[in-house]
Amino acid sequence: MSSTVITNIATLVTNDPSLGRVSSRSGTSEGGGGSPLGLVRDAAVVVDGDRIAWTGEASKAPATDNRVDAGGRSVLPGFVDSHSHLVFAGDRTEEFNARMSGRGYTAGGIRTTVAATRAASDEELEANLTRYLSEALSQGTTTMETKSGYGLTVADEARALRLAARHTDEVTYLGAHIVPPDLADDPAAYVTLVTGEMLDACAPHARWIDVFCEKGAFDGDQARAVLTAGRARGLHPRIHANQLSYGPGVQLAVELDAASADHCTHLTDADVDALASGDTVATLLPGAEFSTRAEWPDARRLLDAGVTVALSTDCNPGSSFTSSVPFCVALAVRDMGMTPDEAVWSATAGGAAALRRTDVGRLTPGAYADLVLLDAPSHVHLAYRPGVPLVSGVWRRGVRVV
Ligand SMILES: [Zn+2]
Repeated sequence: MSSTVITNIATLVTNDPSLGRVSSRSGTSEGGGGSPLGLVRDAAVVVDGDRIAWTGEASKAPATDNRVDAGGRSVLPGFVDSHSHLVFAGDRTEEFNARMSGRGYTAGGIRTTVAATRAASDEELEANLTRYLSEALSQGTTTMETKSGYGLTVADEARALRLAARHTDEVTYLGAHIVPPDLADDPAAYVTLVTGEMLDACAPHARWIDVFCEKGAFDGDQARAVLTAGRARGLHPRIHANQLSYGPGVQLAVELDAASADHCTHLTDADVDALASGDTVATLLPGAEFSTRAEWPDARRLLDAGVTVALSTDCNPGSSFTSSVPFCVALAVRDMGMTPDEAVWSATAGGAAALRRTDVGRLTPGAYADLVLLDAPSHVHLAYRPGVPLVSGVWRRGVRVV
């Protein structure tokens, strides 16, 4: 293994709050208490094999075998996208077009993708999956969770997870996405399938279990049955909660110690209090509100209550067909009350927390060498220059891939 120093970094985001101090010339608004981003100016990072070996001021960097000059640009941890749905086939352009022409979004559009996914070959599904994973990687995402949920039969759900597990460790069983059309008259029978035979077939390929707890999908009792059955099989819970309406999902998530409650758009004060009291991360998915012209989740309210917030794409063909974390950062800053520092933290360390990982989402010694080089002097430009392709380099596990 050889070591490499990436040096001449104008602004380094480490997410190590013990590193770095607020500088009067920082141009960022960390406030009085310093930034959780652990910013270092005029910095360097040493990569040894697939891990970070050292971070700090460039003038103090240890000797290495190789040297990369960042040219006064900024470096941050690779984005950790903790919520996507990439095993699918088909296209929902018409649905999007119709919605942007005045029709509302309901959970039912998922059925269109289910039909196309069931009809697709393994090769088609895997080609689609790798296309969107590499699209995300080129925009700085070095860790990506993805889910099943467009098969909804024992064989199709297990197939989706088996394909996903070839490409990411963060695989989520979402058999309980919607009740499939063929069992629409008997949702209880479908919950029995999801928690029985389908779970048996899917558990070996997944780390997580998820359920869409929402009117038109699964109610609180059904969601509890799904998550507890998964937990009994060694899968850890996460949940789609409180996206389209108020409901029991968020409090169920905290009660079951789910790693994450995702969406969190419609929250009561009791929901916010529950999140603040537990270890469940609130994962906000602004691509969904953007693509459905829905009300934004209130990130400011969650942050002010002390809730850990993650930002993620929800990349899927129906309600949020973006793989761009930088786009979500810009939306979160513009429309959800987050500061640029908070949004960048949530898209890196926050995503890692939502996956209960400490080896990604930070640039600290021992963490994976997953880094993004931005063609900008600081991470603030992710929100300041929305829509501009600023990601000019990506390292994953110590290897430059972009
Ligand atoms: Zn989702």
